[in-house]
Amino acid sequence: MKIHFLGAADGVTGSRHLVHTDDRRILLDCGLFQGWKLHRERNWVMPEALRDIDAVVLSHAHLDHSGWLPALVKHGFRGPIYASPATCALAQVLLLDSAHLQEEDARRANRHGYSRHEKALPLYTRADAQRALEQMVALAPGRALKLGRQATLRLAPVGHLLGACSVNLDDGHLALGFSGDVGRSTDLLMPPPQAPRAADVMLVEATYGNRVHPPEDSPQRLAQIIQRTVQRGGSVLMPSFAVGRAQALLLVLQRLKAAGQIPTQLPIFLDSPMAVEATALYRRFGSLLRIPKREVQTLCDGVRLVSNAQQSQRLSAARYPAVVISASGMATGGRVLHHLKAMAPDARHSIVLAGFQVGGTRGARLMAGERELKIHGEMVPVRAEVQQLEGFSGHADREELLAWLRLLPQAPQQTFVVHGEPDATDSLRFALKNQLGWRARVPALGECVSL
Ligand SMILES: [Zn+2]
Repeated sequence: MKIHFLGAADGVTGSRHLVHTDDRRILLDCGLFQGWKLHRERNWVMPEALRDIDAVVLSHAHLDHSGWLPALVKHGFRGPIYASPATCALAQVLLLDSAHLQEEDARRANRHGYSRHEKALPLYTRADAQRALEQMVALAPGRALKLGRQATLRLAPVGHLLGACSVNLDDGHLALGFSGDVGRSTDLLMPPPQAPRAADVMLVEATYGNRVHPPEDSPQRLAQIIQRTVQRGGSVLMPSFAVGRAQALLLVLQRLKAAGQIPTQLPIFLDSPMAVEATALYRRFGSLLRIPKREVQTLCDGVRLVSNAQQSQRLSAARYPAVVISASGMATGGRVLHHLKAMAPDARHSIVLAGFQVGGTRGARLMAGERELKIHGEMVPVRAEVQQLEGFSGHADREELLAWLRLLPQAPQQTFVVHGEPDATDSLRFALKNQLGWRARVPALGECVSL
């Protein structure tokens, strides 16, 4: 077996690990690079190593794991893309939206002439995304699938996001385990991650490899932020991933209202058509969640769903306090940009970030306390209160990652730490070596190892 590290090797985005078995070349994840321009530019390059692959396996539907699929298909890939049934359903929503954003960005850049290129082109189109979706094949977690002469593929639920799984690929000589993104045992929506299957070689993510989540009670903190914002006549803007985070926020807001901890009359707007679609999928796959079916059904009760762009833009100008949930979660695109432009300059408002903010994104800049943001080529002052709620994170922290790895029946011979900024991967590598006595290292981008 050979592993070629083609992404998420020096950051949290662009997850792509190419595995060579005796007779197959299988790509684990096909993620989009996001964040720093240096990373995003990699999206425009088709790596030679990906020219001749047989299959793709997706750990889950987040774009940093799935978002480059339409580009791969555009470059000629026609093989199967295996994923859990819920991941296939979510990918439908996420990939089409991603393609739409790529097309919009190119159109806007051409209209306003702020592309450095002659004519801005989208990275891929909705037609490319549609084609990729047609190549997806659902594989139920726990079922074994033969790939080629000897290899066997299995998925196991790992919390984190609806449909998210860890991957086990056994080529008849060695078993390779890939964590995907590992969820938290205390996640609001997802059950705790299942134990990984025995593996000789392990690839583990390290998004929060250098962090231990504070034991803060995030719903209470959110209630306090909402109360004081409403008191000063402002609104709360929550940039949120449309899938997963938005549903967790809705759940908490419904519970806070029911408990009388925020005004029951306070309007809540869900301004993301993708979040609305994703919420419907959370209902459809309700049996995969940890909350009672009844609560899944009432996530959107009393919530005002904003359907078109005109309503969305009017919303920013509203004079009454409200909570606005809008995508994207790191403010890299989508409708949340209009709200940020309108709300950030006003000190009465609050901006609440409830997810991991990749370096180089507007979300990361806000968190770092920057008082100016560039939006649609314009500088926008930031005077609103900015808060981060780490308790809503969908990612295991260092201790939770170690606890999950301890569930392996025995220590792997070799562990590779991927999917983290350098500080995080190195910190988890160190913990694996010192606390578990494992052989662990951080691979370099582009490195190819024979096992
Ligand atoms: Zn993820």
